[in-house]
Amino acid sequence: MNDLSFSSLTLNVDLVKNLDSLGYSSMTPIQALSLPMILTGKDVIGQGKTGSGKTAAFGLGLLNKLDVKSYKIQAIVLCPTRELADQVASEIRKLARAIHNIKVLTLCGGAPFGPQIGSLEHGAHIVVGTPGRIEEHLRKRTLKLDHIDTLVLDEADRMLDMGFQDAIDDIIEKIPSHRQTLLFSATYPQEIDDIAARVMNDPSTVCAPSTHEESTIKQYFYQTNSDDERMTALRLILAKNKPESALVFCNTKRDTQDVADELIYYGFYALAIHGDLEQRERDQALIRFSNKSVSVLVATDVAARGLDIDSLDMVINFNIAHDPEVHVHRIGRTGRAGRSGVAATFYSDRETRKLESLEIEISPDDLPSEVHLDKPVKKPVMTTLKIDGGKKQKLRPGDIVGGLTGKGGIPGDKIGKITVASNWSYVAVETALVKTALKKIQNDKLKGKTFRVRILS
Ligand code: ADP
Ligand code: MG
Repeated sequence: MNDLSFSSLTLNVDLVKNLDSLGYSSMTPIQALSLPMILTGKDVIGQGKTGSGKTAAFGLGLLNKLDVKSYKIQAIVLCPTRELADQVASEIRKLARAIHNIKVLTLCGGAPFGPQIGSLEHGAHIVVGTPGRIEEHLRKRTLKLDHIDTLVLDEADRMLDMGFQDAIDDIIEKIPSHRQTLLFSATYPQEIDDIAARVMNDPSTVCAPSTHEESTIKQYFYQTNSDDERMTALRLILAKNKPESALVFCNTKRDTQDVADELIYYGFYALAIHGDLEQRERDQALIRFSNKSVSVLVATDVAARGLDIDSLDMVINFNIAHDPEVHVHRIGRTGRAGRSGVAATFYSDRETRKLESLEIEISPDDLPSEVHLDKPVKKPVMTTLKIDGGKKQKLRPGDIVGGLTGKGGIPGDKIGKITVASNWSYVAVETALVKTALKKIQNDKLKGKTFRVRILS
């Protein structure tokens, strides 16, 4: 027996036996780190990438303390989409097989309301659902959470991305405060700390080591002596690497606009941000870039300051930074969260001094040669829709998810980020499904009201 075996835990023997029969012979790293604490009743924040086994970590925790004889809802798991909620519910049912009569109920949008009320009346031990629909049940008083002793926020980063912050807060207000709260997430943006501080009680944080822990940023350096050469180099690199999200740094405001304009002329999905933009233009640009509906953002160091995006595929220095510290800061925006990143830097023969100040071994690279610049650029995977309604019109993220999914709509996992502003909302959907999404909102309305909706471009 090693300390990675499930039997080393204070876990109900039936649960352990069942794990054996499922072929779970040892704990995954996130389970080994979090389960001992979860089983003592502590609040835990668990970070681990997709597929690391987070569901069983919280699933075993909540099953282990369930009072099966009581048909009261004792645990609630909030998930960002219906698809994820279904996956979590089925994993929990698998883990619970050895215990008789455990009822796991899913409550998600895109499914009719009536049957959910019926199921709730029959009683359940565990509810798994999306924040929008659960909030709706609470408002209609068809769901009571007075006996919850475990709350799980699963894929918390994605729920925050989808704008479920307010819905989550409303739900938590209805849950007794002497509960255990478990939060799981693939990434760890600042917002996770903020929500943890508000809804958790002295949480411990565990982070499953990713296989390549050190972020790996591969740096390339290209000698380019004129703006024309730089522009061609930029096009070649973008055409070769086809990044979903690339950030291009220029040293002046004017250059950012010129470079973006030229990229757009050549068919790239690019935008510039710089200090001369109005606040709304800037917000929309950032929304489209973080929604992945624009793949190239051209910025100055100052304009990029507030930009908090974890998954940049590439950073390109159209002009090498004046200062080595700035260079390191720029390229550090790629290769985050265990992913690998690529940084390309253009320098002229008059800038070799700046290269030396980086104090790393540098050999000039050759530009990609086998690339055809006349091929059309691939469309971004996501498209951002702008809806002319927001907080003031009482529109919530759950309404938008509800309006997009269900009959004639698109699956919830094809929806990306949702941002609800005062009078507008933005939602990213997969580009291949954008027509269906538009039609669904136009035909079926949102909360019974018609809102103008269009593609943001
Ligand atoms: P995450 O939520 O972290 O993305 P999941 O909880 O969905 O990951 O788990 C990924 C897969 O690993 C699932 O198919 C699950 O059944 C399996 N799994 C989880 N824990 C173990 C384990 N200890 N041994 C073997 N397989 C496991
Ligand atoms: Mg998961």
